[in-house]
Amino acid sequence: MKVSLASALGTCFGVEDAINLALEPQFKGELTIVGQLVHNSQVNESLKKNGVSVVSGIDKIDQIKTKKVMITAHGAADKMKEKLTDAGLIVYDASCPLVMRVHKTIKSMVEKDYYPVVIGQDEHVEVKGIVGDLDDYIVVGSEEDLDKLRATGKRKFGIVSQTTQQLEKVEHLVKKIREMDCVDEVAFVNTICQPTRDRQIAVRDLAEQVDLMIVIGGYNSSNTKKLVQVCDERNVEAHHIEADSQLEKQWFINKKHIGITAGTSTPEYIINKVHSAILDIAEELDARKTQPVH
Ligand code: SF4
Repeated sequence: MKVSLASALGTCFGVEDAINLALEPQFKGELTIVGQLVHNSQVNESLKKNGVSVVSGIDKIDQIKTKKVMITAHGAADKMKEKLTDAGLIVYDASCPLVMRVHKTIKSMVEKDYYPVVIGQDEHVEVKGIVGDLDDYIVVGSEEDLDKLRATGKRKFGIVSQTTQQLEKVEHLVKKIREMDCVDEVAFVNTICQPTRDRQIAVRDLAEQVDLMIVIGGYNSSNTKKLVQVCDERNVEAHHIEADSQLEKQWFINKKHIGITAGTSTPEYIINKVHSAILDIAEELDARKTQPVH
């Protein structure tokens, strides 16, 4: 049985920088993160062990017990940051620069009189941050949302995407918008981040070669779910796990080539543990096949 790692996988620089900042000794026991720093339960657990507190969102501001607070890699609206400063808190900003690029892009579109549209999940914290300073906007998650554009009565739309969206989906939705009879002009900036693109391309390449893919990442990680989706679309059996303990030996029986990929919030040590557990399973199953029959 062959086991291959995707050519791009795991933690991106945005997440790594954010984790490193939160773990700096100056913050030990004195920092509260507003929202999940990354969508990975093991990482959040280790932050807690280092005395870093977490509140689920800005609405839990009254639960913050430390003077220092941190905005997550997913970014936040200026309004939210102001609310924290107005409450007398010192704000450390771990927003990924590639998320901040989306904030700037959509604001400049609004200044040029385009009606803002975000392709993404409206409940995702990144999207909430992108639209949080806008008076009016539409979030498009699927084709079903396209009628919302018509309802605005506007004809000129400025479109960006959540950084972790799937490339084909975004391009498809933009094409549909361009074709709408109520639309005169579309300005589109593809703001899917490079680490997400690299992981999507790598999983696609690997999915062509394997008969089973193990996808590692938090169950609430948007980009990890997209990796599973890429495999589903290619009819490649895929299992989404958070840790090596969730691997089931039966998945590997009669498989020839196993692929491993991981979302952008999955740290290297977790990938290494899963990789070595899979190598052990492969070795055990291969040994069974070669045992002489008496
Ligand atoms: S997934 Fe992309 S946008 Fe999000 S933190 Fe990583 S590099 Fe930044």
